[in-house]
Amino acid sequence: MRQVYINGEFKKEDEAKVSIFDRGLLFSDSVYEVTSVINSKLIDFKYHVERLDRSMNELKFKTLIDHDEILAFHRKLIELNNLKEGMIYTQVTRGVVDRSFDMPKQAIKPTVLAFTQEKKILESDTAKNGIKVMTLEDMRWKRNDIKTTQLLYASMAKSEATAKGFDDAWMLRQGYVTEGSSNNVWIIRSKNIMTRQSDNLILSGITRAVVLECAKKLDYEVITKNFTKVDAESADEAFMTSATGLITPVVKINSSQIGDGKPGNFTKSLRAEYIKRALEIAI
Ligand code: PMP
Repeated sequence: MRQVYINGEFKKEDEAKVSIFDRGLLFSDSVYEVTSVINSKLIDFKYHVERLDRSMNELKFKTLIDHDEILAFHRKLIELNNLKEGMIYTQVTRGVVDRSFDMPKQAIKPTVLAFTQEKKILESDTAKNGIKVMTLEDMRWKRNDIKTTQLLYASMAKSEATAKGFDDAWMLRQGYVTEGSSNNVWIIRSKNIMTRQSDNLILSGITRAVVLECAKKLDYEVITKNFTKVDAESADEAFMTSATGLITPVVKINSSQIGDGKPGNFTKSLRAEYIKRALEIAI
């Protein structure tokens, strides 16, 4: 049984409890981060906690959580659960207060929880074989730049895709691809690497930012601009980025095979570069 973290304490997973009045539960008034763990070490931890601060500031949470404290419970969770490869999920809710649409004016104690989950990251089947995605309408709100736990539409989109035999959904607004259900999207066409500009309609991924750096290192120029469903379907290569998927090749979009239906060469070189860097900077 896992040991999880809740409000300063480590508990068995079935003993950790949250109040029924928690605003995270009642209003999805909460933010989260997922940090990947490789060889029992944290990848890009600093960027994740910085984004957590940003999300909390955007929602006007009155207090932030100390970064050293976050690092300490991440490390302890890795140790307690003997986690070699996987992720740590951390969630911070505004806290517990009588139910009201009006957010509390006074500072209340946030609820902080975290747990580990094992996952194959380096040698995953999806990295080896690539994934198939379908497109569907993006029906989410317009503040997807904040990493909130208001994830119902993303979960519906992913489920619709898997029910139809795909691995994930790429969402569209006015014909342009925004992002995947839990990842950023990229295509390569005639040697142009493209990923959507980071605006309020997507989460600005940590992996996306690092991959932009990796591409530069490999002397590739990336155009950060939105692209259409038609651009995607006729791409030479496609991939998605996220903390636990790293760089995952996409080999089919709707009924269109991408390239020769196998992970593309550029995608593979970028993934290798990303992993090299991740292992160097892991803490
Ligand atoms: N977009 C969405 C909607 C996501 O949920 C995620 C993953 N949390 C990402 C993009 C990728 O972000 P990151 O690279 O920081 O994991």
